Amino acid sequence: MTTPLTMHTIIERARNEGRVVLTEVESKELLGQSGISVIDTGLAASRSEAVAISQQLGFPVVLKIASPDIVHKSDAGGVRLELENPGQVERAYDEILRDTVQKHPGASVQGVSVQKMATPGVEVIIGMSQDVQFGPVLMFGLGGVWVEILEDVSLRVIPVTRRDVREMVKEIKGYRMLTGYRGLPPVDESKLEDMLLAVADFATQYPMVKELDLNPVIAYSDRAIVVDARVVLEDTE
Ligand code: ADP
Ligand code: MG
Repeated sequence: MTTPLTMHTIIERARNEGRVVLTEVESKELLGQSGISVIDTGLAASRSEAVAISQQLGFPVVLKIASPDIVHKSDAGGVRLELENPGQVERAYDEILRDTVQKHPGASVQGVSVQKMATPGVEVIIGMSQDVQFGPVLMFGLGGVWVEILEDVSLRVIPVTRRDVREMVKEIKGYRMLTGYRGLPPVDESKLEDMLLAVADFATQYPMVKELDLNPVIAYSDRAIVVDARVVLEDTE
């Protein structure tokens, strides 16, 4: 029996270790407990467990490496999307362990994360970081090249109001991607606002959270759901 993961136990760990980088699975579990909508995800420690979790969740599924030492899972060859059956899950499980160990020898591996494959929507990013001058800062942007190359993000110092987060969503240059693009229906902006507010609350409630990265969140016409998450805690006292 492992003890259930709670913010309380993680804060204890940060007090002992100074800095704790949570894996995707751990981050999603904690954010889920705080009312943030995350895609159903489990941790598999063996190939057969990966198949069992997939069958529980229902196909198609996604498999990803679960390691606190591997931050960029795709770059490490650690992500396999659109797996449709047990055979594909078994193969993906083996490939992920083989490829990531090659790229990151010595990385500590907890297992492989198994999750539902989300249907296509608009990928956005929600983040929080600590600024030396301003304290906790909330970030919103579109996924992929929009953030990485165009640096198209909006920022606000926490605490934020509903009006602040509404502006954050609307003021990015790529805003039109959210209002109906290439046959996709417009996304429900209020669900993104809810998530921004929930992340700001989480940061306020737990000042030890130094970084939070939801990348991506997939936005739809009726909801928004986190498919990748990373939380870093630091005890700076
Ligand atoms: P990393 O950012 O560590 O490379 P991600 O978990 O973000 O890994 O996965 C890479 C990409 O795969 C995401 O940006 C997203 O496009 C896609 N993806 C990841 N998880 C899912 C999922 N559960 N459903 C649908 N697409 C996903
Ligand atoms: Mg990601």
